[in-house]
Amino acid sequence: MPTQHGRALCEFIDASPTAFHAVDSAEAMLKAWGGQRLSEKEVWDLQPQQLYYLVRDDASLIAFRLGTAPLATAGFLLAGAHTDAPGLRARIDKAVAAKGLERVAVEVYGGPINATWLDRPLSLAGRVLLQAAAGRVVSRLVNFSRPLAIIPNLAIHLNRDLNKGFEYPMHTAMLPLVAANGAAPAGEGVQGSWLLSALARELAVDPAAILSAELTFYEAAPSVIFGEHDELLAASRIDNLEGCHAILSAFCACRATAHTQVAVLFDNEEIGSTSTRGANSALLRDVLERIVLAQASTAQDFYRAAASSLLLSVDGAQAFHPGYADKFDPDYAPVLNKGPAIKLNANIRYATEAKGEAYIRSLCTRHQLPCQRFVMRADLSPGSTIGPMTSANTGIRTIDIGLPMLAMHSVRETAGTVDHDSLIALLQAAYMEGPAVAD
Ligand code: ZN
Repeated sequence: MPTQHGRALCEFIDASPTAFHAVDSAEAMLKAWGGQRLSEKEVWDLQPQQLYYLVRDDASLIAFRLGTAPLATAGFLLAGAHTDAPGLRARIDKAVAAKGLERVAVEVYGGPINATWLDRPLSLAGRVLLQAAAGRVVSRLVNFSRPLAIIPNLAIHLNRDLNKGFEYPMHTAMLPLVAANGAAPAGEGVQGSWLLSALARELAVDPAAILSAELTFYEAAPSVIFGEHDELLAASRIDNLEGCHAILSAFCACRATAHTQVAVLFDNEEIGSTSTRGANSALLRDVLERIVLAQASTAQDFYRAAASSLLLSVDGAQAFHPGYADKFDPDYAPVLNKGPAIKLNANIRYATEAKGEAYIRSLCTRHQLPCQRFVMRADLSPGSTIGPMTSANTGIRTIDIGLPMLAMHSVRETAGTVDHDSLIALLQAAYMEGPAVAD
């Protein structure tokens, strides 16, 4: 079975334990394809067919390849995904120690399946803000890249009902254990935090130079491909690094077209997208407006371009799970390795409407690509994506599509490698064909 891009996806995921690292990985891909970084603080002088990208706050990225035709008539073809994933955010300067056991205080980011984080080696990564010379503050990525913590379960003997369902006390029981140094040191409870010291050692800086940090625990074990024909992939953060990697792979390999191609990677989707760098911000609209203004001849050009554009919002879809068949509508449950799913919801939790669905189905038919449909049971409500907010903020017609996956928001999710190839082919076809939809 072909898995042309499966290994590359594993490498991308393993190199991207946080949104900051995902943007770093994306930047490496874009640079390898001749991408030129823009600053939001500078004036943009844009050349047709050139690949540009910009990064906001280290965690969101927009890349575009300027088309050969005026944007007012040719429009944008965009594809977007999110860089963040649910997890446990470390508090760097809080000391938590008892009887010589040191743990790291955490906050929950988004909606992880809590139980999956227990009893497996965890590592830690993120960004750190450091005091530099002459009053400057510098941002540095950090990735410990080795097991350094574990969240131990309570023995079954101490809670015989554990297997009947259990709500983990997040503030007290979900703290990763990082050290067991025998007897408690004198003055325990008031000494400095283990993490602050470990971070200073890792970065080879004075602890006093660490001004702030956003660090997230992640599963230390790497992604794996398995199955009789290497058709399955189990990894952390498939939601939604799979989408990011598919978009970047398709976008980078395309050549310039009349319309302008855009790849959008937003942070903060898992916590509602409302931030300076999330989908519910002015980021995308501002960037598109600036691209149009760089070549505009009239003030109406941006609005004309938006009206001629199309956005594919790429995020995971709930794959049919044979152990829980009653949770699915059997006629609208996507199956692993049968292709990307068009995501539909009457209450616009997904942005797809009829013209968008028609666009994708026509594209897939003409390019002989597999395609499924995902609709939740009428008595269940789906999650959402960057799609509805992005379409509301920009006025651009948006279609939600995504790969079927199992165990979404588990520390280890499962997807099909064949699907990843199919999604890249679909995105490539859309990037090349452009945004023309039925009027
Ligand atoms: Zn997602």
